[in-house]
Amino acid sequence: MRVSYWCANGHETAPSFSVGEDVEAPEQWDCPRCGFPAGQDRARPPSPVRNEPYKTHLAYVKERRSDADGAALLEEALEALRVRRGGVPR
Ligand SMILES: [Zn+2]
Repeated sequence: MRVSYWCANGHETAPSFSVGEDVEAPEQWDCPRCGFPAGQDRARPPSPVRNEPYKTHLAYVKERRSDADGAALLEEALEALRVRRGGVPR
């Protein structure tokens, strides 16, 4: 199947996908002409300038969150190790 995408510069690109039960066409597609992200809504193409800081911030938050999760998991593992060894958990 073919899906049309439009970028902020008005370029239309229509890559074809083999879409199955668990495969869907991506929400955005990089415009082959200018490299801008292109969306399926022609009236509201994604703006690369406005989206960039948000993506960076989100990536930053995700990174921080996984760090915290990692620390929590490590603490949990250490706790289980202490209990298994017969120690008293702090
Ligand atoms: Zn374009």
